[in-house]
Amino acid sequence: MQQALKYAAEQATRFEQELFDLLKIPSVSTDPAYAPHVQQAAEWVAGQLKVIGVTAEIIPTGRHPIVYGEWMGAGPNAKTVLIYGHYDVQPADKADGWSTDPFEPVVKDGVVYARGATDDKGQFFTHLKAVEAILKTEGTLPVNVKFLIEGEEESGGESLAQYVREHGQRFAADVCIISDGSMPSVDTPTIVYSVRGIVGFEIIVHGPATDLHSGMFGGTVHNPIQALAEIIAQLHHPDGSVNVPGFYDDVVPLSEAERQMIASGGGYTFEQWQQTTGAPADWGEKQYTINERIGARPTLEFTGFAGGYAGQGLKNVIPARAIAKGSARLVANQDPQKTFDQIKAQVERLAPPTVRVEVNYLASGLPAAVDVNHPAMQAAVNAYQHGWGYAPVFKREGGSLPIVADLNNHVGMPVLLVGYGLDTDGIHGPNEHYALSMFHKGIETSIHFLYEVSKL
Ligand SMILES: [Zn+2]
Repeated sequence: MQQALKYAAEQATRFEQELFDLLKIPSVSTDPAYAPHVQQAAEWVAGQLKVIGVTAEIIPTGRHPIVYGEWMGAGPNAKTVLIYGHYDVQPADKADGWSTDPFEPVVKDGVVYARGATDDKGQFFTHLKAVEAILKTEGTLPVNVKFLIEGEEESGGESLAQYVREHGQRFAADVCIISDGSMPSVDTPTIVYSVRGIVGFEIIVHGPATDLHSGMFGGTVHNPIQALAEIIAQLHHPDGSVNVPGFYDDVVPLSEAERQMIASGGGYTFEQWQQTTGAPADWGEKQYTINERIGARPTLEFTGFAGGYAGQGLKNVIPARAIAKGSARLVANQDPQKTFDQIKAQVERLAPPTVRVEVNYLASGLPAAVDVNHPAMQAAVNAYQHGWGYAPVFKREGGSLPIVADLNNHVGMPVLLVGYGLDTDGIHGPNEHYALSMFHKGIETSIHFLYEVSKL
């Protein structure tokens, strides 16, 4: 391992140049105009895998290809690590406020500025370079390695989800590591051990057959906007909990030990939360802390509300319908379909006979949580300690990352979210950047991780 670390240090400049080559490819997955560049990035990654001594295959899908590679030379008795990443990026345009061309990497004070620098090209590339460093110096790896690098993470990721459902066993491994996240500061590396699930829906309230004159019919028909507001207002109790029968039935309760871990983890202080949100005061289930409410409790949120006329001036109309969109964030062991059915039933129960309601399912993803006491977790802790230089904290993520649940549930392995970026790297925004020191620390941590897993 020492030879590999030495090799990585000696090759640092070349590794950076290779990363810059990848950053120059505008692999924006959401915009069809960039499809040739997405393809080009897939081929570039496959080429890199071959160069470092790993097999490489470009798997076509209905949209953007999946790049898959493996090195199984450690044999059937050795552990296998699956490394996930994504080579596609969010859109970026100079006009969005970038100081430099987002696809022309610029290094300033040891920091590279480019779209994808942190999310996720700079992060997943650390694992390729770690494998290269070990293979080139030892001629072998302490574990088998599989690479799964997709091209649709920033635009739905449906192709990979479908592929995992159908061919998931190709990716079977003892542990999956994903570096596509961030930490609050370089001395607080963060392992995310839980992501929330999601189920999205819409409520449409139908009233009169057409829009009506509010003077001629107001006071005689139940206005759909008002009826919808009345329904929505009843979906939470005054204490902030969700008023949907059965909603909390499958929620795994928080243990005292976990509450302590969340309190000492990399979450928000109240001041940081206030500064970030700009909200006048916090709201929600007061018996849970803000960080518990964000990561460990399910929520029901409304994300859109429309009806009638909201343009300039006034239009005196009772609209024929009103619509709201919303989503519930779920924690283990909640099921999106079951939750949707519960919400639908409650909305229908709350709907007055003066209107007709329609509740439609829109999208979903499963929640996932990995036991922090799983031995693979310890491998990641040791890797951070020796490679990064600091012990990690554990965090529950409020957002959803369906690939974690897909791999966890369909392939059956613990998924470790081990981020090598900073919260302040400007992911998805203008001037996304990545400290090259973190890129190199990431490579060292990955080298340590592969050896740590071999000891499990
Ligand atoms: Zn990402």
